[in-house]
Amino acid sequence: MKKHNIVTDSPPKAPRAATGAAIPPPRPLAGATFVIAAAHPSQLPQDGLPEIAFAGRSNAGKSSAINALARQTRLAFASRTPGRTQQIVVFALQKGGLVADLPGYGYAAVPHDVKRAWQQFLWEYITTRSTLVGLVLVVDARHGLKALDTALLDGYLPSARPLLVLATKSDKLNRAERRDAAQAIRAALAERYPHAATLTTVLPFSATSRDGVEEADAILESWLPRE
Ligand code: GDP
Repeated sequence: MKKHNIVTDSPPKAPRAATGAAIPPPRPLAGATFVIAAAHPSQLPQDGLPEIAFAGRSNAGKSSAINALARQTRLAFASRTPGRTQQIVVFALQKGGLVADLPGYGYAAVPHDVKRAWQQFLWEYITTRSTLVGLVLVVDARHGLKALDTALLDGYLPSARPLLVLATKSDKLNRAERRDAAQAIRAALAERYPHAATLTTVLPFSATSRDGVEEADAILESWLPRE
């Protein structure tokens, strides 16, 4: 067995503040609190705070991802009647800034006209919300990107803002499958949005095993203005 070399093998040191105290890793969603459930984008807070939106197909794991990042078990709720509620639920971050939990889409048992209204609702939000600093798209790693996901990205990515795709439920996949799933999503994004490569990150994620939680924290923190 290789001997541990205390000079060269020491683990990377945590960054230190000017005072010498270690700076804890960022957890931008920790301690987030409920603000409002907006039935229309016009009811959203208008105070100009930077906002991170979470989107995804119904049942993809969006609520679980928000709760995992917030280190809370019941901040975001999965809708009891998926497809019936069209609300944007807004949370306030401790350090300033907002999270917008967008309504899940793609639930099959919804009448066609409701689906259309819903897509318009999401489209309006994603194309007009000027305080939006980044989008987190939650995708079931086993299913990859679907048409409604790309419909949303078609509206979002031309704005040249960053995208984080959480390829979630990675705990249901083995290591090779996890890597392949993330790679398939990257390839689909690169093909459809060749100019957005530098704006997008695809991260294997699991609310259950907490795979990817700290990496996602660091990315979300980087989207928020420094204090
Ligand atoms: P939402 O409709 O997108 O908000 O999805 P939820 O967060 O409510 O999750 C839908 C289902 O997937 C629930 O049964 C969750 O327990 C399950 N789920 C969500 N995230 C994970 C995960 O990372 N791993 C596993 N194994 N199940 C998950």
